[in-house]
Amino acid sequence: MKAILFDDFGGPEVLRYGDIPDPVAGPGEVLVKLKAAGLNHVDIDIRDGVSRFDFAMPHILGIEGAGVVAALGSGVTGLAVGDRVAVSYIRTCDQCEWCNRGQDNLCENRRLFGEHIPGTYAQYMLAPASHCMALPDQVSFADAAASLVAFGTAWHGLVARGGLILGDTVLIHSVGSGVASAALQICKAAGATVIATARTDEKLERATEDGADFVINYTKTNVNDSVMEFTKGRGVDIVFDVVGGTAFQQSMFVMRPYGRLISIGAHAGEVVDFDIIEFFRRHISYISSHTQTRDELRHVLDLIARGTLSPRIHSTYPLESAADAHREMSSRTAYGKIILEIPE
Ligand SMILES: [Zn+2]
Repeated sequence: MKAILFDDFGGPEVLRYGDIPDPVAGPGEVLVKLKAAGLNHVDIDIRDGVSRFDFAMPHILGIEGAGVVAALGSGVTGLAVGDRVAVSYIRTCDQCEWCNRGQDNLCENRRLFGEHIPGTYAQYMLAPASHCMALPDQVSFADAAASLVAFGTAWHGLVARGGLILGDTVLIHSVGSGVASAALQICKAAGATVIATARTDEKLERATEDGADFVINYTKTNVNDSVMEFTKGRGVDIVFDVVGGTAFQQSMFVMRPYGRLISIGAHAGEVVDFDIIEFFRRHISYISSHTQTRDELRHVLDLIARGTLSPRIHSTYPLESAADAHREMSSRTAYGKIILEIPE
């Protein structure tokens, strides 16, 4: 099969479009013929060699993918060749304490496609049958590939972990990212008021089209002053932070008592100082969140099928041009997701 492979860490130029033997489905596994793959910033970290994940070379990147069932391993029931599926990107053991609790995103034996095991920048992938989620006819392969990480992560952080409710005011940092733009849609569908920040007016225009109530260009305006002005000194109930660093540090000063600071990423700074006194005096909760359960993924796919949520695809590249797609992602000009189309 064709795949994007790399043998050494480095820039986009290390990605090569090459051939590798087709994988063969083992017991309980499904061979999926991929139609679309989604890019994530972690792909760049892995390619650069700073991700701290263990995997074998040559490696195939790609967390998100959707396609059709091409072959079934022994013992697989409930799926047929030709079925449209999206693949849950956390390969879990389905046996440990956390899997048994339905909190499979915390599986003790989990391995992520594209991080620890071969991913979706390829014509085929292997997945356990339990990880293949039926794709509703209304959801395209590209939309599915664009949704798993973004909507799954945002849903788990805001709803399952953060307790988002009608009437909350939410500050979303760096709204152009896949997860943050998905968070905006979830907040609006849930009846929240959203303040969004970004570094370009173009991204803020897109956020306004998606329902943001107030937008702030953080390169031109003091975010905290603007938030306090918009909320008439009240502050926000939730901060949804995908970036960490200074944004994380400053967030507590615009949160009202009982505010929830939801942290799902730290590309702008992994280690920060923060004022413990501000936290405890105002009953602020720090809520950490990572990935989501398969059940939550099925739920967001259903909401996409119903039109409640709608993935934002910034651009689409053929698989062989994955290096160009990486260059665009590194430029951080996208609003929403970058997708690879997989050839027949
Ligand atoms: Zn497990």
